Amino acid sequence: ESRSVRKGGRDNVLVCVRVRPPAAKLAASNQIVDEIAWEVDRANGRLAQSTGGPDYFFDSVVTGSHNSDVYDEAGRDLVLDAMEGFDAVIFAYGQTASGKTFTLSGNNSNPGIIPQAVSEIFTYIRDHPEKEFLLRASYLEIYNESLKDLLDPTAGPVKIRQDEQKRFFVHPLREEVVTTEQQVADLLKRGADNRHVGQTDFNERSSRSHSVFQMTIESRDNSASSFPEPSTPRRMQTPNTPRLAPGSDGVVRMSRLSLIDLAGSEQATSQLERRSEGAFINKSLLTLEKVIASLTSDAKQKPHVPYRDSKLTQILQPSLSGDARVAVIATMNPSPAAIEETKSTLRFAQRVK
Ligand code: ADP
Ligand code: MG
Repeated sequence: ESRSVRKGGRDNVLVCVRVRPPAAKLAASNQIVDEIAWEVDRANGRLAQSTGGPDYFFDSVVTGSHNSDVYDEAGRDLVLDAMEGFDAVIFAYGQTASGKTFTLSGNNSNPGIIPQAVSEIFTYIRDHPEKEFLLRASYLEIYNESLKDLLDPTAGPVKIRQDEQKRFFVHPLREEVVTTEQQVADLLKRGADNRHVGQTDFNERSSRSHSVFQMTIESRDNSASSFPEPSTPRRMQTPNTPRLAPGSDGVVRMSRLSLIDLAGSEQATSQLERRSEGAFINKSLLTLEKVIASLTSDAKQKPHVPYRDSKLTQILQPSLSGDARVAVIATMNPSPAAIEETKSTLRFAQRVK
């Protein structure tokens, strides 16, 4: 199957850079000029500063505003893998205003990765009448290393616990059973609205928090007894949630698709920030980098993987410690003013590969 032959070769981490269109600048001459500080070589997945310097290579480089282009490069394969029982995690990483939310959420006329994934999931279900599915969705926000359930914001404090196999899970977490695309759209809308509640400065908080949307996919073959063994047997993340009864051969496959809009990667500017939110963000992004990099490490002796060091990596540990498919979409603003932050984004994107 061609899907399983990934462009990046042997490993399961795919890195795509998305270059947003430059903000048109009103030059002194009163002419609109789009300033771009980068040479973008989409065909070879290469970027280089126009003024010279090293080449940066990635699995793909996407330009322009069509979210379907990014979905083609770093969305569809992972979603289909998730439907077939593999965990998949897609991150948007980049400085504030580089296009993370645009890429993941998009808008009505240009849906982002999340709505395209949801649509793909329901299409897949319609196309596979021989399988039975149970879908659940959850949506949470991590701000200053504390968790907020965006589907149930008034619930008590949301904590991370560990089961007897030392796997982390979030509790309590509202996981809603969903049966239609519209239900998921409504749920996402509700989560986004709850994200705004009580925020005097929503933009500030959203650039300082991670948002984690997850779909848990259970399936079983409802006809044959030839259902293959899942490659990663999984336990339920939380007790007392509805689940599929085992099929005639007793096999229920479970996987999780996680779509993550990360906090802005920019360096904190003020002293105060460096000591508070900024420090939390830096630590969680650094931990994320170490965890993803460990997935592709060639080292015979697997390095210690520091899941424990941040809430985000704790939440993702059940996926990332298994046979997960991972895509990092690094979003960048090509303008000269953003050059230092963009270089730092590209270095991150190279290090996780
Ligand atoms: P972030 O989530 O990284 O802070 P946003 O996604 O909010 O950034 O993007 C900032 C602004 O740039 C928004 O107005 C968004 O619509 C616009 N934008 C980002 N990427 C693109 C793109 N590829 N094409 C067109 N507009 C974009
Ligand atoms: Mg955003």
